[in-house]
Amino acid sequence: MRIGIVADIHANLPAFVRVLTKLQEAGAADQLWCLGDMVGYGPWPNECLELLQTHSHLCMPGNHDWGVIGRTEAALLNDAALFVLNWTKEQLSRPNWTYLEALTLIQKVPDPPFTLVHGSPRDPIWEYLVETKDASPCFRFFDTPICLVGHSHLPLIFRKAAGKTTVSAPADGTVLPLGADRLIINPGSVGQPRNGDPRAHYAILDTAAHTISFHRVVYPIVLTQARMRDLDFPTMLVQRLDVGQ
Ligand code: ZN
Repeated sequence: MRIGIVADIHANLPAFVRVLTKLQEAGAADQLWCLGDMVGYGPWPNECLELLQTHSHLCMPGNHDWGVIGRTEAALLNDAALFVLNWTKEQLSRPNWTYLEALTLIQKVPDPPFTLVHGSPRDPIWEYLVETKDASPCFRFFDTPICLVGHSHLPLIFRKAAGKTTVSAPADGTVLPLGADRLIINPGSVGQPRNGDPRAHYAILDTAAHTISFHRVVYPIVLTQARMRDLDFPTMLVQRLDVGQ
């Protein structure tokens, strides 16, 4: 079985559509694992949530998703993010609001055994895992071999072996064999990457081959930017899509 892994779609419909097409081509679109932040920053919150729900999927809430429905302190976001969050709040359909309210913070998949969460297994909504000093203590907070996270918008692999935690940044096309080591993995962001590569990022779990592969795909950024400009979204949010920051 192949499972598509996506995170931080952030209401960027052209990016999400492109990723879904690639997952379809790879036979990995029948089951999706979505690691939160479907909304925020981008201009198509309802459309992205509705498209996600047309697939068999598991989904955890992110800080933007919970910020919109008032479950977490939205004031922790910067002004630009807050602007779009308030706009999203006005736009979100009742069924999508109900969908976000029903999401659970952490999901443990029994087979194959995985833990899925947005931020970290220690703090599912807000903790960013970027450095080994932050990731290392988090291995105590889940009991499956691998935990998948989003939130930082950076494709990263944290590995715990012989008591030591190391980190690496997978390139486009990296195939990671899943062995005995415990891992925390971020597939990168679909809708707003921050690793200097503006392409949409995603990953594929192949349960037969025991691998996770990392991928990036070009999408029509100008379409997303045009709609953001039409809606008077903060310029900084429009421009950052060009550079992947
Ligand atoms: Zn995010």
